[in-house]
Amino acid sequence: MPELPDLVHVAEVLNGALGGKTITGARTGDPTVLRLMVRDPFPAVLVGRRLERVERRGHFLRFDVGPGMVVVINAMLVGRYKLLAPMPEAHRKKDPTALGLALSFQDAPELQYLDEKRMGKVYVARVEDEGQIPVYGELGVDLLSPAFTRETFAKIFARRRDQVRPFLMDKKALASIGNAYADEILFAAGIHPKTFCKKLEPAAVDALYEAIRRVLPEAVDEIRRRNEPPEVKVRDFLKVRGRDGKPCLVCGTTIRAVRVGDGDACFCPTCQPETRKLFVSWSGLEAARAQAAASNTKKSRPRSPRSTSRRRETSGS
Ligand SMILES: [Zn+2]
Repeated sequence: MPELPDLVHVAEVLNGALGGKTITGARTGDPTVLRLMVRDPFPAVLVGRRLERVERRGHFLRFDVGPGMVVVINAMLVGRYKLLAPMPEAHRKKDPTALGLALSFQDAPELQYLDEKRMGKVYVARVEDEGQIPVYGELGVDLLSPAFTRETFAKIFARRRDQVRPFLMDKKALASIGNAYADEILFAAGIHPKTFCKKLEPAAVDALYEAIRRVLPEAVDEIRRRNEPPEVKVRDFLKVRGRDGKPCLVCGTTIRAVRVGDGDACFCPTCQPETRKLFVSWSGLEAARAQAAASNTKKSRPRSPRSTSRRRETSGS
């Protein structure tokens, strides 16, 4: 799915292109993707409304379409957003089933939400009912918000009996981490993805919190800096996700993929050993890493993160 850092960028681009514009038309290539939580018929319920603001909430995008009405989209695994030059209706071909929603605007590009797997959902709801949208209405603490403090994290973490990776990806606890950033955060914290939460030492819990606080905003900055169109997932700067079979950028060990819960995790068996007792501080860990990397450089120079070829992804995670 587009993950939190991707969606921060997408929301910014959409606000810039479409904020304040009036919706002149709405269509779908697959009505089963639409969840109309209103009595009003589609597309009449949206036409004539003004797109006031696009906001990310967890892994959802929320479109405020004027008095009391919202469109909320959960892009799931492969959903993506695209801006296209408006096309006269006469020239338009039949919409593919992958078209979850298209919104056309006055004097602005057309917005398309596309989803080849058709796993995502587009909800149209009144503001007073949006809390009933599945998962969206029960999202945990937003990881970029000031509410995500060390104390809040400690409270959430203390109740967990599951493995650390499924915990990170529990949207009702933390909003929101997907496959890619779960791997990146665990790598940054030096924690094996299969570790049970209750086995983590306090220092490792600190490292995990710090990793979330660091990895996500850094990714937001990088994706913002690259400023690709909204349908492009920028993932080539990631350190472990999608790099299984390649050498770890820190220690040179081959990155492995392993099944954890419902998903596949990519991790470094050396930087993230199966059981880890963290007695060093976060900064101490970083220093030890730097030292390991330096001694490794002498033996065989690992590829720097910037030297990997630029890869554009439009699907998958
Ligand atoms: Zn490593």
